[in-house]
Amino acid sequence: MTETVTNWAGNITFAARELHRPRSLDALRSLVAGSGRVRVLGSGHSFNEIAEPGGDGVLLSLGALAGEVDVDTSARTVRVAGGVRYAELARRVHERGLALPNMASLPHISVAGSVATGTHGSGVGNGSLASAVRGVEIVTADGSTVVIGRGDRRFGGAVTSLGALGVVTALVLDLQPGYEVEQHLFTELPLAGLDFETVAAAAYSVSLFTDWGAPGFRQVWLKRRADEPLADFPWATPAVEALHPVPGMPAVNCTEQFGVPGPWHERLPHFRAEFTPSSGSELQSEYLLARRHATEALGAIDGIRQTVAPVLQVCEVRTVAADEQWLSPSYGRDTVALHFTWVEDTAAVLPVVRAVESALEPFEPRPHWGKVFEVPADVVRGRYPRIDDFTALARVLDPAGKFTNAFVRDVLGG
Ligand SMILES: Cc1cc2nc3c(=O)[nH]c(=O)nc-3n(C[C@H](O)[C@H](O)[C@H](O)COP(=O)(O)OP(=O)(O)OC[C@H]3O[C@@H](n4cnc5c(N)ncnc54)[C@H](O)[C@@H]3O)c2cc1C
Repeated sequence: MTETVTNWAGNITFAARELHRPRSLDALRSLVAGSGRVRVLGSGHSFNEIAEPGGDGVLLSLGALAGEVDVDTSARTVRVAGGVRYAELARRVHERGLALPNMASLPHISVAGSVATGTHGSGVGNGSLASAVRGVEIVTADGSTVVIGRGDRRFGGAVTSLGALGVVTALVLDLQPGYEVEQHLFTELPLAGLDFETVAAAAYSVSLFTDWGAPGFRQVWLKRRADEPLADFPWATPAVEALHPVPGMPAVNCTEQFGVPGPWHERLPHFRAEFTPSSGSELQSEYLLARRHATEALGAIDGIRQTVAPVLQVCEVRTVAADEQWLSPSYGRDTVALHFTWVEDTAAVLPVVRAVESALEPFEPRPHWGKVFEVPADVVRGRYPRIDDFTALARVLDPAGKFTNAFVRDVLGG
């Protein structure tokens, strides 16, 4: 069977002419053991060639395997199969009265693919989504399964692994009691005099949005846990209508606003599961740097906003607490994440991506693994103090490099 396989955004067409969809774990094991090079495509929401196996390598999807979601209410954990998306996971966890600590801007993405790239939501006290993972089950090169749990010395490399260790067939995540969240939206937060630390800590999860048409933020989204106090937010004006972060897009695509309390999984993502997230026609980049540089870094982007604005749909600023995954862009440092949703025009966008990278260079940003970036691989490598530990782990679990690809080889340095 020949097909054209692309990512969600459509800017990457994979060389593979077939997406293999094994129907059982045994079929998956045989496929892996019998293939020379293998990569998994999760929900395909990355914007670069991170999932590309290259040449005649096998690209496989776990979409035809059973999407198990086993909640253990007494242990407060969930074991979730490798192909399951957050929308389904969250629904099943909520049914049992439990919750995840955080979610990304959209629930459409697979759990395994998200934690593999260090995907995050926002909140000064919230780590990346990988922080909730307590164990992974990985089908390695010979088709056998390796289980790595928190406490295992290999765990720091096992979750945010760029897909380079094997096929993640299941993950175990920590849960907490269910909670409700309200979204309070504000408009027009000036950049001048911004007390970033205070603003970012004004709610459980805070996002600032701007199109960089002017210095300052067009929108502020505060996601307040209903069991925590509501802080005053005197710096901006309460929104009077429902908003979508991308100018011109309909607010109906977004989760409920105006402070209406609702379950965590229907408020933490900006976008509803049943609608197209974001604009749908776009490229994305994101840079994660130490939070203490937030004000200076925003000033640096403001300094080039006339270059940025023409190809930008929206920029979102979020925070991520430090985590312990060696390849997580928020590894070891409380982080501010500067995200850019660009127009869908690679040729026009790449020079601006380079301008943003040069403006942010003094702050040693780590690019989001799943988005467009131009930072040279050796520079990226230098920003991960445990990269050699990851490379050593990959050599042990995948000695022949079956799960490596050009993207991973670049980052790990050959
Ligand atoms: C509209 C939109 C909004 C987004 N919002 C956010 C956001 O709020 N925060 C954020 O941080 N990012 C965000 N992203 C980026 C996105 O979260 C990442 O690209 C993430 O990796 C997507 O998961 P996926 O399953 O689609 O991964 P894919 O792109 O399919 O794969 C990513 C990597 O994971 C590997 N992989 C996938 N599944 C497995 C598996 N089972 N076993 C082994 N390896 C596997 C792949 O080989 C690849 O290397 C957004 C992207 C889009 C398109």
